Amino acid sequence: MKRIICLLLALILMLPVLAAAEDEEELDIEETIDGESEGDAAETGEAVWDFPVALEDMNPDFVILANKHYLLEEGFYVKPLVKVRKLKLNKDGSVRTEGVRWAVGSQMKLQEDCYKALVAMSDAAREDGYNLYLKSAYRSWRTQNTMYKNRLKKNHGKDDGWVSKAGASDHQTGLGADVIPKSWIKAAGMNSKMAKEPECQWMAEHCSEYGFIIRYPEDKEEVTEINYEPWHVRYVGIPVATYIMENGLCLEEFNGQLQQAIEDYLAAGGDRKKVEAFIQKPDEE
Ligand SMILES: [Zn+2]
Repeated sequence: MKRIICLLLALILMLPVLAAAEDEEELDIEETIDGESEGDAAETGEAVWDFPVALEDMNPDFVILANKHYLLEEGFYVKPLVKVRKLKLNKDGSVRTEGVRWAVGSQMKLQEDCYKALVAMSDAAREDGYNLYLKSAYRSWRTQNTMYKNRLKKNHGKDDGWVSKAGASDHQTGLGADVIPKSWIKAAGMNSKMAKEPECQWMAEHCSEYGFIIRYPEDKEEVTEINYEPWHVRYVGIPVATYIMENGLCLEEFNGQLQQAIEDYLAAGGDRKKVEAFIQKPDEE
C-alpha cells in the first residue's frame, strides 16, 4: 500500500513538469510557423528581392540612366576613365598592342570595365571575321553642350532627336560607345541602314556576352525618344545585358522595372542599404 501511495505521490509531483514539457513543444511549433510567415520576414528585414537579376549581379554605376528626363550633372562620369588604345597587329595577325580599332584620329576615353569589355568584344568579332571600329566614346558635358547647340543651329532651332542635349547623353557616362563597320568610316553621317551590315548584326547578336546592350533599339524609339542607332552600344555588365537583350528591352524599360522592384522590396521591409545606390529619380521638368 505504501508503495502505491509513493508512486501516486511521485506522479502528482511529475505532472507540472510533464505539462511544461508539452507547453514547450507547442511553443516550438508556433515559432516555426511564425518564422515562415511573410509578416515576420518584413519585421526582420528579410524581404525577398523579387527581380530577374540578383542585386549582387548588378553594379549601380553600370545601370545609370542618362536621357532628357534623367540628366547627368556637369562633370559626372563613371570612374575610372581610361585612354582607349589602338589595336596593333603583327604581320602574322597576332596582337602586338592590345586595344580596339579607331575610326577617328583623336584619342578617346572610356570607363575601364567598359573599355576592357570592348576590347574583348572586338577581339571576338575579329576572330569571326568582322572588324569593329570605335567612332565615339566618352563625351564630356561641355562637348555635348557644344554639339547640341551646333545641331540646333543647323536645324533652325529644331531638336531632331540625333544629338542629345548636355547631361542627357549616354556618352557622358563613359559607358557608351559608337562602334561601326569599316565601310561607314568615310560616310557623311550615320543612319539606321547601317543595321544591315554584317558587323552590326554580329554586334546585336553577341554584344550581351560582353556586357553590352544596343542602347537605342529599333522598336523603342517612342520610349528612348532617340532614333534607332545600331552602332551605339552601352556597357551595363553581363547579367543585366543578358536580361535586357533576351527580353528585347531598352535601358529606360529596364530602369522602370528595377525602380518598381526596389519600391516593392522596401515596402516589404527590405534593407534600404542594399538598394539605395540603385535608386534613380527623374528630374522635375
Ligand atoms: Zn552614340
